[in-house]
Amino acid sequence: VKDGRPFRMAVLGSGPAGFYTAYKVMSSIENAVVDMYEYLPVPYGLVRFGVAPDHPEVKNCQDKFEEVASSPRFNFIGNINVGKGLPLTSLREHYNAILFAYGATKDRKLGVPGEDSLKGIYSARHFVGWYNGLPEHAALAPDLGSGEEAVIIGQGNVALDIARTLLTDVDVLRKTDMTDYALATLSKSRVKRVRVVGRRGPMQAAFTIKEVRELLNLPSVSFRHIDPFLFPSNIAKLPRTPKRLTQLLLKGSSTPAVSAQKSWSLDFLLLPKQFHSSSADSNDLSAMTFSKNSLVGPDAFDSSARVEPADGEATFPTSLAFRSIGYKSEPIDGMKDLGIDFDERRGIIPNDGYGRITSLSSDGTGIPGMYCSGWVKRGPAGVIANTMEDAFSTAEAIAKDWESEQPFMAGGQGWDALRSEADQRGLRSVDWADWKKIDAAEMERGKGKGKPREKFASIHDMLGVLD
Ligand code: FAD
Repeated sequence: VKDGRPFRMAVLGSGPAGFYTAYKVMSSIENAVVDMYEYLPVPYGLVRFGVAPDHPEVKNCQDKFEEVASSPRFNFIGNINVGKGLPLTSLREHYNAILFAYGATKDRKLGVPGEDSLKGIYSARHFVGWYNGLPEHAALAPDLGSGEEAVIIGQGNVALDIARTLLTDVDVLRKTDMTDYALATLSKSRVKRVRVVGRRGPMQAAFTIKEVRELLNLPSVSFRHIDPFLFPSNIAKLPRTPKRLTQLLLKGSSTPAVSAQKSWSLDFLLLPKQFHSSSADSNDLSAMTFSKNSLVGPDAFDSSARVEPADGEATFPTSLAFRSIGYKSEPIDGMKDLGIDFDERRGIIPNDGYGRITSLSSDGTGIPGMYCSGWVKRGPAGVIANTMEDAFSTAEAIAKDWESEQPFMAGGQGWDALRSEADQRGLRSVDWADWKKIDAAEMERGKGKGKPREKFASIHDMLGVLD
């Protein structure tokens, strides 16, 4: 408390970064008040709209977030798009600090011919959003019924989530919170063979052991063997994690092929070159060509080894392709008015590594009261545990700055003062009690179907619960 007023912070985004930073700030600064703004009427970011439905245990972090939200010093303000709905300059007048924790709202593109013009090519972000009920992508209607092949470009865990979703028996998925419309489409899917393609080798791939194991263990799904030359000859010398991964992939590659209905493969050292249609007057994807790469450097099996173009190409016939090469953050409208220059090249808000937002142009000095955490601070990589650690480091910086009397913004009445401005702008905010009603309605809808919940996949339907 300074000058009789508590520390007041606006948090933009209700994913793990927003919640974990809020938690640590509220426990480190006495009487701190947090107003958390979220552009959807529902909280939790990618925990709700990214994490695969068959990974319910990953969502346990929501219990901690509920606990944070139960504090009288915490306000959830959902259904408010900061930037487009409520201007950032309005927020500045009423808080000591603003925390940017809005994640990554776009995805990276390949930039190869055919990517934008052909039907059958989907962004991983859109597809994942679609099966998880993200309103923006609920109408995607991917065509899974035209062919038996699917190619996934990228070898991170999101790519494996998609492969697993395409290959898992749909009756298993029916017990998850996957949306009904996605289950209906998946139940009619004809996809039988899934290729997960990467430009580097197995020792450089971003996927983790757990996700590979899950795919290898899928019943009635076989794994196409990996060429042994892609692995170092002396596995015993590898560090623990790559050693375990190599052992797993080699074991998967040596399991005798069973007559399985479906199969998947990891295809390495292939750089996307072009999407094709069957003829000049067709807009439907029919194949994809990759150019071959080879590994270079003193240790081609090191995780940081680079690749360079090699001779040859590979073309895979497919009517379905997923681009899964990473998410991407964007600036929020009006950031410049606060003196923040988004770093377009790195796709992050410039900061000192501890979440203090710094100016790009001058000598990198901090901008008083401006902080960031999570994917928009570090870049869109890492699991929730990494995001938590990152959020804690930002919270520690905030608490330290407050204690050591660093400059902050003047502060004010927060949401109490902004509520009338939001009303005047025709914005309809959703508080935590409202979310709990939406939550209860979703769980009720799931009950009869044996699902944890049936999500509302439109903002209209979410708000409909509250009328
Ligand atoms: P987010 O979770 O994206 O949260 C950002 C929030 O900000 C969102 O709610 C968004 O709606 C909101 N927002 C955006 N713009 C605005 C605005 N203008 N105004 C107000 N609010 C705004 N990690 C695991 O540990 N296990 C997994 O199994 C796992 N699976 C994943 C699967 C996928 C497909 C993806 C993409 C990620 C997965 N992760 C997983 C990683 C994990 O989701 C991230 O580490 C974490 O969610 C990043 O947190 P964040 O708060 O930075 O971003």
